[in-house]
Amino acid sequence: MRGDGAARVLSVAVVGAFLLAAALLPAAAPVRAQPAAATPPSVPASPPAPPAVSVPRGGGTAPRQTASAPACPPRAPRVRVAFEDPEPRLLADADVDELHNRSREPRTPRLHHLALTTSRVDWRSEITAHYARAPDGGPVCAVPGSVTLHLVHAEHVMRLAREIPEGGCLWREVLAHERRHVAVNRRALRNAARRLEAAVEAWAARAAARAPDVEGAVAALQEQLRRAIEPALAAMRAEREREHRAIDTPAEYDRLSRVCPRDQAVLNERLQQQER
Ligand SMILES: [Zn+2]
Repeated sequence: MRGDGAARVLSVAVVGAFLLAAALLPAAAPVRAQPAAATPPSVPASPPAPPAVSVPRGGGTAPRQTASAPACPPRAPRVRVAFEDPEPRLLADADVDELHNRSREPRTPRLHHLALTTSRVDWRSEITAHYARAPDGGPVCAVPGSVTLHLVHAEHVMRLAREIPEGGCLWREVLAHERRHVAVNRRALRNAARRLEAAVEAWAARAAARAPDVEGAVAALQEQLRRAIEPALAAMRAEREREHRAIDTPAEYDRLSRVCPRDQAVLNERLQQQER
């Protein structure tokens, strides 16, 4: 009875473990905006481009705009998207319980996490703005001068449960499986960099923000940029989720529950000891 139950535990364990790697991503791998404090908008210290801007001469149609809408400086924005994607780390310092703590998914007799791959992508933006102020100290119009987007794989870690005999047959199979998730994460990051570059270029070509002061106008540009790149970031999240699901199929779980029977037996014994 014990043996039979253990065999089922093992099979379910593999399912739970690999499901987790994919299921974890939406919750644990948010694409996070850098806190505002960390992305100070840089504003040219030197005098802005065309200073005094002619207030549109009042036709009859929109006289109020003449006071509140300075002309914007000409723009020729430079756009750069840089990404960092260091080699992911492989750790074997966590046991099943710790993997569950990390996943925040409770361990049950039927669910043991055997591996966990986490990935977190951070981004931050730097904008240099050109601005012009309406005469008489009126509002400011800012346009992007240069925009740099940094995309960083800030965390990318494969963790294999300590209970798996390290370096053995099952270890290598589980690691190969996790490396497929890693490849998805890295490919999605590269695709995201391409989409982001297109999105930023499209935005920068037409962006302008008006505010009572320079700081406000540049902050508005930052907010516009954040909104402009959100679809590309959402596409990255969707790509990751879709491709992780394509790896974690029932057939793959089934295969993994059958490979390396001797290591499976060792693992099984260790898991049973924890239940006692
Ligand atoms: Zn998986």
